[in-house]
Amino acid sequence: MIGVLATLASNHAAQLVLAALRRSVTFTQARLISLASLETNEYSIIVAISPTETFGEQLLDWLSNGKRKLILFGNVPLCLEKSLGFERTEWPADAINWSRSKPAALYSFSESTGVIQYGDLAKMLAASNWRRPMERFDFMEEWNNLGYGAIRMDASIWSIAAPLKVQLKDELASLNIGKQSKLSYAALFNLKDASVLWFNREVGPIDSFEWRLVEEFIANFRHQDLPCYPIVLEIPWGHDAAVTMRLDCDEDVESARPLWAAYQSLGVPFSLAVHTLNLSDVGQRPILRELVACGESVLSHTATHAPNWGGSYSAALIEGQLSKEVLEEVTGVQIKYAVSPFHQTPSYALEALSDAGYSGCIGGIIRNDPEFLLARGGELAYMPVGFIGHSQQVMLHGDCLLGQGDALQIYKDAFRLAHQTKALFGYLDHPFSVRYQYGWRDEDVRINAHTELISFIRSSAVNPVFLSQNDAMDFIGSKAAITVVKSDETFTIQMQLPKSLLTPSIEFKKQLFKAVSGLELQ
Ligand SMILES: [Zn+2]
Repeated sequence: MIGVLATLASNHAAQLVLAALRRSVTFTQARLISLASLETNEYSIIVAISPTETFGEQLLDWLSNGKRKLILFGNVPLCLEKSLGFERTEWPADAINWSRSKPAALYSFSESTGVIQYGDLAKMLAASNWRRPMERFDFMEEWNNLGYGAIRMDASIWSIAAPLKVQLKDELASLNIGKQSKLSYAALFNLKDASVLWFNREVGPIDSFEWRLVEEFIANFRHQDLPCYPIVLEIPWGHDAAVTMRLDCDEDVESARPLWAAYQSLGVPFSLAVHTLNLSDVGQRPILRELVACGESVLSHTATHAPNWGGSYSAALIEGQLSKEVLEEVTGVQIKYAVSPFHQTPSYALEALSDAGYSGCIGGIIRNDPEFLLARGGELAYMPVGFIGHSQQVMLHGDCLLGQGDALQIYKDAFRLAHQTKALFGYLDHPFSVRYQYGWRDEDVRINAHTELISFIRSSAVNPVFLSQNDAMDFIGSKAAITVVKSDETFTIQMQLPKSLLTPSIEFKKQLFKAVSGLELQ
């Protein structure tokens, strides 16, 4: 069992980190624990969030009392500072200048000058020379098409926590401003019978591809001498990449036909999320029936596309209920999933969707609601079991193509990152309307760009699977329903009836296993 340890002051971060852990190791293998639980010997991996001095001293005892892994997120107490070789330094001045990005110009992108740079030690956790700015935009100050959230400098749980430096031999990543390293952002300490992974942020990397480092640490690292836990991947068994796409129908539905035809000829599933005010024009309805007849997905994109789902739980409930009713009447099938308008996903909207009978929500954007930027799809903090979320921040628009060099470079990089870090890759576009073409010159240019991205995916992955949005979400739901139970040294996989035709895969001690009920791992 993995224990998450935090004082009341860090409880919100702890809830988010616990949910992120459960999306990787399953619901049953991680829980919040009390300080006194450290003495029970039940926990061989602890995730501690900004531990106090008292917590730090007990963690040091626990570390020296068996084979252990400690994951530290946030600030570090003096006792751990001393024993692991941290040094306090000064905060770099003018954080507002280096931690924030300007809005992106058309056909370009924008990044903060403050950058997290990973070094060679990160290769021990299967990371290459990763580099990620603290904040980055591909469209205005809204979208980061590389998919990750922002590292802030505002003393929040999303902020760098403390002006700490570790010894170079232990440093996984540093905060660089220009070419200069100013602080340490992540570190790996290897002791004789224990390892410690540290991120200088209370939520660690829960909103980024960098979460893969945590999974590596838990599932694979030092598997011959330290405890490991199985993780459930969001790439189905038999594949090395998984991809899903959709169009968000904000202003038109029927105009999706040419792109749908292109996807049919490519043999790639196609999904529409529909803002149902469009359907008051009955001429916008036939494509939805045809899509459903072909096994494609239709999702809700709310009733009125209101900012922040109308601003309250009750407004969001009506948005969810009305759009579900209309879409179910038009298509004759159950509508299970919703896509957030403007990708705004406040917590009351998730509660309303769950109460309206939805099984999950798609959103996730660097601009707002950082809690909904999820490195892995699955169940959410503070939400009931059986409701899932998935972040899909990659917006394939004409005005986000690069004006210089390879126009699709960012999208290819986004897929490469997802592929390398075993993330289900989701991207979106919008159907043209009379008013707006989302930066695409015409449908041919758009179809060529989509076709080129799909060709790139097919040439860079060995066996990618392309999923409709419903199949992708059903798969995430079935992955979330897996539980792992540990008895003595054996982990047993337990699965409920599969909701998905795809089989999840389990990674444990550098090996992959097909997830079947009763599978035992040691
Ligand atoms: Zn929209």
